[in-house]
Amino acid sequence: MSTDIDCIVVGAGVVGLAVARALALQGREVLVAEATEGIGTGTSSRNSEVIHAGIYYPAGSLKAQLCVRGKHMLYDYCEARGVPYQRMGKLIVATTEDEARLLDGIAERARANGVDDMRKLSAEEAMAMEPALRCTAALLSPSTGIVDSHGLMLAYQGDAENAGAQCVFFTPMLSARVRPEGGFEVEFGGDEAMSLSCNVLINASGIHAPTLARRIAGLPESSIPNEYLCKGSYFTLSGRAPFSHLIYPVPNHAGLGVHLTLDLGGQAKFGPDTEWIPEEDYTLEPSRADVFYDAVRTYWPALPDGALAPGYTGIRPKISGPNEPAADFVIAGPAVHGVAGLVNLFGIESPGLTASLAIADETLARLTP
Ligand SMILES: Cc1cc2nc3c(=O)[nH]c(=O)nc-3n(C[C@H](O)[C@H](O)[C@H](O)COP(=O)(O)OP(=O)(O)OC[C@H]3O[C@@H](n4cnc5c(N)ncnc54)[C@H](O)[C@@H]3O)c2cc1C
Repeated sequence: MSTDIDCIVVGAGVVGLAVARALALQGREVLVAEATEGIGTGTSSRNSEVIHAGIYYPAGSLKAQLCVRGKHMLYDYCEARGVPYQRMGKLIVATTEDEARLLDGIAERARANGVDDMRKLSAEEAMAMEPALRCTAALLSPSTGIVDSHGLMLAYQGDAENAGAQCVFFTPMLSARVRPEGGFEVEFGGDEAMSLSCNVLINASGIHAPTLARRIAGLPESSIPNEYLCKGSYFTLSGRAPFSHLIYPVPNHAGLGVHLTLDLGGQAKFGPDTEWIPEEDYTLEPSRADVFYDAVRTYWPALPDGALAPGYTGIRPKISGPNEPAADFVIAGPAVHGVAGLVNLFGIESPGLTASLAIADETLARLTP
């Protein structure tokens, strides 16, 4: 079967680049087509940059498996490739007796996911570690850390290109069709609109991946989930944070709660909160800070008035709606939709950054029938 190129990966976020790297390292010919001007302009540069331990996800879910596997792969990769990271640990802090009783269940779920290094701390132990903290008890997750997400993506891109892959920018995929003889004919827009045929097509286009999948003629509609967008806003702390660990409240039904993360320069940010939105919109409403002050002061009472400045927002690529249980990652290959050579990546929200190397391996595994 004659094609212009063996593999096309759509989207140069952390997942698309990790998949392109893995394909190129297998010796395959790879083109990464990105709609915008560069790598990582979407969700991959609008997140918390946390290397998650794999604590909260349902046991056996792809999120749990790929987060735990991906975390180990990511630490090893960052060490080997000189990508900046720090394994600083995270405290999950209870601020009432009721919350303190929930910590054992969280540790239990973590153990079921293969996270066996969690440690319960008394209020005194936690506050000795972090004197600015107020809590009734805490859980320490030593294997949680942070990573320079842009450095990581540059390293993936470098590996892929060294193995022969090519990244092209300003090249949005518009549509595709499954060819009767096998493979795909893919239409691209941009200044140099073109059509390319390929054997393998990977849809790693992030928040609009379901919409893009609907533009692949020959793909069963039933294999494509609904698309929902859920914005998260961050506020940054003026001045230095009096914390050396990431600080998370006990999660509630609405999510992980307003938590404190640190970047590699020691700058603290709080967020993300949760706001379901009808369309892509990265504006940040400064008045959302009011809720942040109240939430943060439950565990850091000394947060000064006026210390929070608007930071940035990111959009979670959801495939389950506001009143539905959170969906798992969907890595839909031929076993799901019956089209050889195609993998759609849907709902790759957190912990997609942590899991990126493991998601790439899983994507390649699902290409083979
Ligand atoms: C608020 C927030 C916080 C998060 N925090 C963490 C965290 O701390 N740790 C963690 O592990 N994960 C976290 N995540 C999840 C993580 O950021 C994502 O899972 C990951 O970045 C997804 O990468 P991606 O490559 O799939 O998507 P993206 O980064 O969105 O990349 C998709 C790319 O496809 C391009 N594209 C779109 N359409 C087309 C088209 N038609 N043609 C060509 N290109 C196209 C886009 O321009 C974009 O560059 C967070 C997510 C959010 C929203």
